[in-house]
Formats: sequence, structure tokens, C-alpha cells
Amino acid sequence: MQFIDLAAQYQHLKNKIDARIHKVLDHGHYIMGPEVFELEEKLAEYVGVKHAITCANGTDALTLAMMALDIKEGDAVFCPTFTFFATAETIAFASATPVFVDSEESTFNICPIDLEKRIQRVIAEGKLVPKAIVSVDLFGLPANYPEIEKIAEKYNLKLIEDAAQGFGGSINNKKAGSFGDIATTSFFPAKPLGCYGDGGAIFTNNDEYAELIKSYRVHGKGTDKYDNVRVGVNSRLDTIQAAILLEKLAVFDEELISRNLAAKSYNKELPEHLIKPIIPDGYTSSWAQYTVRSTDREQTMEQYNKKNIPTMIYYRTCMHQQSAFEYLGNNNGDFPVAEKLSKEVFSLPMHGYLLDNKK
Ligand SMILES: *Cc1c(COP(=O)(O)O)cnc(C)c1O
Repeated sequence: MQFIDLAAQYQHLKNKIDARIHKVLDHGHYIMGPEVFELEEKLAEYVGVKHAITCANGTDALTLAMMALDIKEGDAVFCPTFTFFATAETIAFASATPVFVDSEESTFNICPIDLEKRIQRVIAEGKLVPKAIVSVDLFGLPANYPEIEKIAEKYNLKLIEDAAQGFGGSINNKKAGSFGDIATTSFFPAKPLGCYGDGGAIFTNNDEYAELIKSYRVHGKGTDKYDNVRVGVNSRLDTIQAAILLEKLAVFDEELISRNLAAKSYNKELPEHLIKPIIPDGYTSSWAQYTVRSTDREQTMEQYNKKNIPTMIYYRTCMHQQSAFEYLGNNNGDFPVAEKLSKEVFSLPMHGYLLDNKK
């Protein structure tokens, strides 16, 4: 059994994906070919935003968002401590200061109550300029945007939705990728919508941010890439990856249905002693991971592994516990909920072809 069965998906889509790749080989526009723009249109339509801009990976997507929002040295940017490293890394890479926030125990996502406390603390200290919030749709479940958006507005903060795992999820039919000022996602192979290499995208309804990001991703281009009006980066999605994503996006909703069925079946069949993921009313998850909690995690995982069911731990180490962030001076015990989650969570296999395997 595979944790994420990319081979099963490829077998299902082989003819279509192969044909799309061959089209690219025939026309030879490997960088910024027509498939890139076709994909951007379809992504914007899918998410329900004005602009979708692809780039090289989900980490660059965050960096490009921060460049567009002019996040810089002296700025405080709030993000959950229980997340993948890139969320916090890109804040520090922008020379700003990551200010970590504890999690909500039931959803694993950033806790709006703790968020507001930490914002007030930064204001009271008066050393950093509170600038932005990066919220994460952890394991596929959108964060509590109704509350987070209120807080962003109250304290005049920009909001970035890190939907690297959330793509496909929704709140009251509003799709992940459409929250905040700018949202980002990743097409890393293991994400809900993955390509066959690295890839990412940025979503926004703001024309000015969209123009800036399109410029930043190609060396700060003006009218063309040899007219450079600002210092940017080189972060484009390969045309071949766009071609693969077009075929995967076409079946993505079917795969989401299948992921939801798999989650339902887990909810029903897993033993009582495991705490199952909670999806609040009106929310849907893309089930990037199906993550449970157990107070004797290692032993429980061992039992599954013996039955040839692979398990993974996302995440064993919170951001405030990472060596790279020691300089921030956080301590163990500062984020009790996230620390507890990091000791109890583990994830079971999840992909769009999981139930087919059982047949
Ligand atoms: C995967 C991931 C990223 C980074 O995406 P890459 O494409 O691997 O650079 C950022 N944030 C979160 C929450 C992720 O899970």
C-alpha cells in the first residue's frame, strides 16, 4: 500500500497526460508556453478569483506574495507554529520577523484567539510593525477565515492564505485560494493537486498585486524580460508541468469526491481511541492529509506499519522549536496546543484512488 499513490493516478490518466506532454514536445515552448496561460485561466476560474499566476513552487509563491505586499525588515508577520517550514521560512527570507501563533486543537489550524493576543503583544512592545498574517489551510482544511479576516481588518494587517495543502477545500462554497489579499498554493507531487516536479501558484483579486507578481516572477520585467524595472526572481512554472496539471485539474473534483469518501470511511472504521479530524459546519477539506491523534502514537503507528499500512508524522517539530528559529527566543511551553498536537498527530494514506485499491 502507498501513502500517496501517484502511480495509480498516472495509470488512470496516462493517455491524456502523455498526449499533453507530447504536444509540448512538438511545439517546444518549454518556458511560458500556451499551456501555462491556459492553466492560469482554468485555475482562476476554479478558485473563483480574478488572477491566478503560476510560479516555480509553493515556497516561491509565498515569497512572491510577500514581495508584492512589500513585507520587509522590521515587520511582524504572524503565522501558525504548527505548519510546514516554508510558511515561516519565507517570512524570515523577506527579512521580516515571524511571530508564531498557537493552534486550535479541534482543527489544527491557527487559533484566532491566540492570534489576536499575539498581535496585541507586538503592538504593546512597540518594536516591530504588525504587517501581515499568513494563515495555513493545514491538512486541507481552510483556516477560520471568517474570524481571521475580521482580525486582519481590525488591526489593518494584510492576509496571505497559504493554501499549499488547502487547494480544493472551501468554506460555504467559497474555495480555498480565494481568501485574504493574496493566496498561494503548491503543486508539489504529494499535494492535493500535484504536478511531476515542482510548481506553485498565486491567487488574487487585486490587479496591482497581480501585475507586480507577474513582473517579479520574471526578473522584475517591464515591457519584456530585457526591460527590468525592479529586482525580481526567476520563478516560472515549466510548460510541461502546466500540461500535466491541466489534465489533473480536469479530474480534480472527481478525486476530491473520492478523497472525501475515503475520509468518511476512516471516520467510521477507525478505532474509538483515535481522535479523528473535525470538519466544521460549512467547511470542506481537500484532505491533503487524513490526520488523527493518539496519546500512544508510536505504538499505534507500529501496529499499522505491521499491517503494511504506511503512516507519516506531520509535524513532529513546531516552528518555534526549529533550530533555524532559535534566534527568535521562543521557549518550549509557549504554544501548548501546537506542542501537544506535534506529539500526538500522525497521518494515514490518502489519495484519490485509495478506495479503488481496496476493491
Ligand atoms: C508544501 C508546502 C509549502 C511549500 O510548497 P513547495 O511547493 O514545496 O515549495 C508551503 N506551505 C505549506 C503549508 C506546505 O504544505
